Amino acid sequence: MVRPRRRRTSLPTVLATAVALTVGATAADPHAASGATRQHRAAQLIFSDPIAEAVGRAVEYWGGSPCGGTVSVVTGMNSEAPAAGQNAPGAPGHVAAMWATWVTPGGRNLFTEPAASFSECVVHVNRGIWPSTQAEDSNFPAFCKEMLHEYGHFEGHPDVGAAPYTIEYERPDLARVPLCERYRLRYGQRLYAVQPAEQRLNVRRRRR
Ligand SMILES: [Zn+2]
Repeated sequence: MVRPRRRRTSLPTVLATAVALTVGATAADPHAASGATRQHRAAQLIFSDPIAEAVGRAVEYWGGSPCGGTVSVVTGMNSEAPAAGQNAPGAPGHVAAMWATWVTPGGRNLFTEPAASFSECVVHVNRGIWPSTQAEDSNFPAFCKEMLHEYGHFEGHPDVGAAPYTIEYERPDLARVPLCERYRLRYGQRLYAVQPAEQRLNVRRRRR
């Protein structure tokens, strides 16, 4: 389970590093006025799949697919979400932004059974916290880290006892995970991307 990001504290960090650019036709483009060109460009609009992007990174992070290779990702509502923040001191009273459910031979959602026995693994994305694909794109590092966290449950890692600033902790968005911090996602004419820190340094050096 993942408690929702505290928007007031996490958003400024994200905004400081994230770049949202408009790509494609602009007013300065001499071809932009052509209807045919516009149609051509519309046909080329690309929409990334942030769930697939996050799942791919989760599998890479944990070194394979849990639950015999079968994990479903579904959307859920605020009203269905379990309480969050039980294991993240000072931040109770929220519902989970994402949560996991699974079946074990001894019952549902147990960590006392070996992870190799888990089946019917489902990650639930709370649409009350993540309302749209574009929201997932624009705050992808947090979305991705939450996905890694839920996959961690399928690997047998509980929230209880997890150390702060790890992906297993109930605030995985606080963890440093380069795998989730490098991305390039398209939402139609919008590009959501973050340059790795090394690239930013190189750009600065070249400009000198
Ligand atoms: Zn959790």
